[in-house]
Amino acid sequence: MADSIKMISTRGETPACSFYEAMETGLAPDGGLYIPDRIPPLPGQFWDQLPEMSLSETGREICLPYFDRDTEKDVISRVVRDSVTFGAPVVQLYENMYLLELFHGPTLAFKDFGARFMARAFASLEPEGDKKELLILVATSGDTGSAVANGFYGVKGTHVHLLYPSGKVSRLQEKQMTTLGGNVTALEVDGTFDDCQRLVKQAFSDRELGRRIRMSSANSINIARLLPQSFYYMHALGRLQKQFGKAVNPVFSVPSGNFGNLTAGLIAMRMGMPVSRFLAATNSNDVVPRFLETGTFTPRLSETTISNAMDVGNPSNFERILHLFDGSHEEIRKHIWGASFNDNQTRACIKKVYEETGRVLDPHTAVGVLTARKYREESGAGSDSPAVVLATAHPAKFPDVVEQETGGKIEIPEQLKSCLEGEKRSITMGNDYNSFRNFLVKEKW
Ligand SMILES: *Cc1c(COP(=O)(O)O)cnc(C)c1O
Repeated sequence: MADSIKMISTRGETPACSFYEAMETGLAPDGGLYIPDRIPPLPGQFWDQLPEMSLSETGREICLPYFDRDTEKDVISRVVRDSVTFGAPVVQLYENMYLLELFHGPTLAFKDFGARFMARAFASLEPEGDKKELLILVATSGDTGSAVANGFYGVKGTHVHLLYPSGKVSRLQEKQMTTLGGNVTALEVDGTFDDCQRLVKQAFSDRELGRRIRMSSANSINIARLLPQSFYYMHALGRLQKQFGKAVNPVFSVPSGNFGNLTAGLIAMRMGMPVSRFLAATNSNDVVPRFLETGTFTPRLSETTISNAMDVGNPSNFERILHLFDGSHEEIRKHIWGASFNDNQTRACIKKVYEETGRVLDPHTAVGVLTARKYREESGAGSDSPAVVLATAHPAKFPDVVEQETGGKIEIPEQLKSCLEGEKRSITMGNDYNSFRNFLVKEKW
């Protein structure tokens, strides 16, 4: 039997390691990002069964090649089963255009897939002997924190400290972070997001602290958040095959910021998933569409927009994309097409889609729909492929914009209702490292 897939760094200066080690390390020691050493196509049997498989069965088949031992294969199967507990339905929006709804998890955004998988993988794959409780430290300006906190919530052997800047996150985001309780502690820092990030970084580089507490991060460059995001691309393909037959060759439009979600799609393509094109859909933070056009990648400071989870001026996963295509601009352009839209265009799209279909889009998904439309207009050839737009967040997470454009009250899903009713519990803290360190060492959390 072939050896399992190992993880290597995009910069090539780190020895190959296991999935668990790559997950625990986060950023590779040479400063690169972990990526599989090879991505073999999935076997014929997988493709025969795909249209009939559930999302969680599909995820399990995707994960198995990363593990050698039967015991690990059992564990990862359980991790997938326990993390994929909600669906990713494909619904029709227009003729030949579909939404892949990724917002049915606890925080109503696609990041739930990655965060829940990683939490359970951390708790279950840990090698024998190392039984110290694992502390996850996350600095957050809002959405990532709630997905990570929810992902780890109730997972045995783990505790999460979320650091957020006091008064600088939305009410909804604060509720999502502070009402969980249990193994999640919200630390409300008197300072900025940068202060929160500095405190976390300092804790990770504090060796003495590291000997006392087993700590890890859960940020979005972690390979364990990426792999589970390939599940739903494959699953969506299966649904389309059921409808259009095996020859279907879809376009995937991916609302993007750090480009983790799009990279997960590329990984699925390498596993053999047929794709006509990926569409890099961005707001006015358009460094990747510009790169596609010009061949030059020029990171810059991010601009604030209404699709704020995509306000990224230096997308971290771009390095993985380059690696997957050996740095070839031409190859990248064959597979990825890009476009960017400003806030006015995004608002107009929410309004128009609502008027035409009765469906309410969140601002991120609207950028995806705009991009799919533009692609269809500009490339006559691609227009017979069904377009699948990844619906990355539930519209109720952005009530202000959405209610302005649709003129109605948006219905709040259960997941949000219960946390809005919950009581805020946070520990306030100054922005100096000593108070943070003392808290970590002295408090019983
Ligand atoms: C994080 C996020 C994105 C961007 O995803 P990337 O993987 O960073 O490209 C898009 N939409 C929503 C709602 C998000 O939360």
